[in-house]
Amino acid sequence: TRLANQIAAGEVVERPASVVKEVLENSLDAGATRVDVEVESGGVKMIRVRDNGYGIAPDDLSLAMARHATSKISSLEDLEAVGSLGFRGEALASIGSVSRLTLTSNALEQGSAGSSAACEGRDMDVVIKPAPHPRGTTVEVRDLFFNTPARRKFLRTEKTEFNHLEEVVKRLALSRFDVAFSLRHNNRTIHQLKAATGQLEQQRRVATVCGPAFMEQAIYIESDRGGEAAHHLKLWGWVGLPTFSRSQADLQYFFVNGRVIRDKLIAHAVKQAYRDVLYHGRHPAFVLYLEVDPAQVDVNVHPTKHEVRFRDGRSVHNFIFSTLHRALAEVRPGTPQP
Ligand code: ADP
Ligand code: MG
Repeated sequence: TRLANQIAAGEVVERPASVVKEVLENSLDAGATRVDVEVESGGVKMIRVRDNGYGIAPDDLSLAMARHATSKISSLEDLEAVGSLGFRGEALASIGSVSRLTLTSNALEQGSAGSSAACEGRDMDVVIKPAPHPRGTTVEVRDLFFNTPARRKFLRTEKTEFNHLEEVVKRLALSRFDVAFSLRHNNRTIHQLKAATGQLEQQRRVATVCGPAFMEQAIYIESDRGGEAAHHLKLWGWVGLPTFSRSQADLQYFFVNGRVIRDKLIAHAVKQAYRDVLYHGRHPAFVLYLEVDPAQVDVNVHPTKHEVRFRDGRSVHNFIFSTLHRALAEVRPGTPQP
């Protein structure tokens, strides 16, 4: 299993950003309403994520670090529904095999005051000790790839690694307005986001995360196709107008049922609408949310879960295209309807 862990680690843990992604997703799966991320040296030296989720009971701590010890899948139907973000049960084990990993948690069971478990690289012997912690979990990952020099060689500069890591936090912050997030790098606060309820507060979060320049040029759109569950589609969010001139290549966020997605079909629909109305679809900036019946979409096409497959891709494409076309045409009167 030691080898299996390290091979799996290569798939899950590519760089500090992948650690943050897996650990944050666990926090969200645990129902956290506040998640604080603290990193040093782009995350290579240290990543600490603290949440106020339901925690891990002392007896389950070493299990949490073991491969395929997921608590999230108990049947094939679960696998189909995939309500939770993580379901492979290998992230923590993989992270632990290439770093110095400590979990400290309190599930507030049996009047527990909290306990911690630590493991180091290959040596997967988990040591469990009592350790005070409020309800929730703190995951600390130190010295990533300390025992896998080949992998460490692929790390880029501290700044680049941090940028990737920050991007992960941004995506999750845009996908969960109801959760408070903070991000600190080398003892400096980079993001401090309160939970956002209502469109105005959400808009404020988007402006903070994407930069005020985007929001100044963006319009809010919302379209609900209605209909029975299988055909129900809803699209909402903010689309930037081309007057927004900053390099926008990286300002394209599309969420399907709360997960960030990079999908050719969707990208095509968005581009097409921009091109049709504004005669230029090179770098549209957008933060868009598509809500669709989970049975109509397969989010497990790729293990990193950035791709989706729709049962009726054509209809989704048409819906996105026509919604955006209508919205953009409104701010640019005289455009013929599709
Ligand atoms: P998965 O998320 O696929 O189940 P992980 O390796 O990411 O696998 O996590 C293993 C298990 O550890 C989870 O199933 C969960 O029970 C527990 N766990 C990890 N992080 C947390 C957390 N922040 N809060 C509560 N439980 C956690
Ligand atoms: Mg997980």
